[in-house]
Amino acid sequence: MSTKRQTVAVHAGSRLTGSKSQPVVPPIHVSAVSYFEDSDELDAALDGKDYVYSRISAPNAVLLEEAVAALEGAEACVVYASGMAALRAVFEAQGLREGDTVVMAADGYGVTRSLYKNLAARAGVRVEALVLSEASAPERVRALRPRLVLMESVTNPLLRVPDIRALSRACRDVGAALAVDSTFPSPHGQRACELGADYAIQSTTKWLNGHSDALGGSVSGSRERMAPLRAARLLHGDVLGPFEAWLTLRGVRTLPVRMKAHCAHAAHVARRLSESPHIARVHYPGLPEHPDHAVAREVLEGGFGGMVAFDIRDAGRPECFRFLEAVKVARAGPSLGDVGTLVMHAASASARRMTPEERQAAGIGESLIRVSVGLEDPDDIADDLLAAVAEAVKR
Ligand code: PLP
Repeated sequence: MSTKRQTVAVHAGSRLTGSKSQPVVPPIHVSAVSYFEDSDELDAALDGKDYVYSRISAPNAVLLEEAVAALEGAEACVVYASGMAALRAVFEAQGLREGDTVVMAADGYGVTRSLYKNLAARAGVRVEALVLSEASAPERVRALRPRLVLMESVTNPLLRVPDIRALSRACRDVGAALAVDSTFPSPHGQRACELGADYAIQSTTKWLNGHSDALGGSVSGSRERMAPLRAARLLHGDVLGPFEAWLTLRGVRTLPVRMKAHCAHAAHVARRLSESPHIARVHYPGLPEHPDHAVAREVLEGGFGGMVAFDIRDAGRPECFRFLEAVKVARAGPSLGDVGTLVMHAASASARRMTPEERQAAGIGESLIRVSVGLEDPDDIADDLLAAVAEAVKR
């Protein structure tokens, strides 16, 4: 190679030689481009047979896809730059036309509601928002004859648990695809594809990553369903970067042990919160009094999850904001799935993009607090939340 400075600066130090070592942790492949000395190999790589350009395929994303597909019990997985990108990809893969109908959760994540309303409006598609945990929901789906149904395994923020098996049967009867956002239970809590979903969607930003240090999303399902998603991602370019994929895969390694602890801590916190006179209602599918407890026992095979919500008695937004400022162990942050406890006022955060009428119809009141229960000592978490509630309702 030339010894001229400019050439050396560009090419020196780009290859390790003489090593047979295998790293126990995959390296982070930051190169967006690879080159080949053989043109036929380059040509084949451009057809997706090897890594050549990271919008087509990239090693860290592929390793994460392998891990998430295995966790979901699915044949294949496609990862995205965010959970929202994954949700959008599923909508767009349906090739919906004017006059088609999409059914989605009326009481799910507000940003998903906004996204699907926007995408549908552009395509002349009708969106029907239903509370999918109601017993009549499968019949409503049959009557509406939608092309796509999007449910949340456990709804954000009210933690309702629709019967995925009954909805899947209804979808099959009318030829609709069933997409399931199982971000809240994570694949540890529910393997949606095994219960009848065509698409299992995750915001990997949450429990899969587990440490709040990378956005990401995934869609898992059959190889046949994933192929068009992969082809569309190549065109749209909403790929997951190598650092994010690497961090998320590192989080995945501890998902089962973290989730066992998150579930146990959440159950403990839910019980302690139920004893407070200042709390009107605790929402946790593991509590026998939860309206979907019987369904949850069957469809959340890996536990009831790390999320708890509760209504502060006679509270409005000012009391809830005082609560957010009074916590000391927990932190007020609009996300979930972190090793630390996160609290949030649902109406002004996860449901912020819903209209007041949509929030009211979904039953998301101004007094609702959502908690992502962390790995701190469970009594420290419960004591902290209870003290902050007492502080918030002090007149
Ligand atoms: N789905 C659910 C249930 C969520 O709670 C969120 C985010 O909070 C998303 C999807 C969107 O994921 P992301 O923020 O990774 O785009």
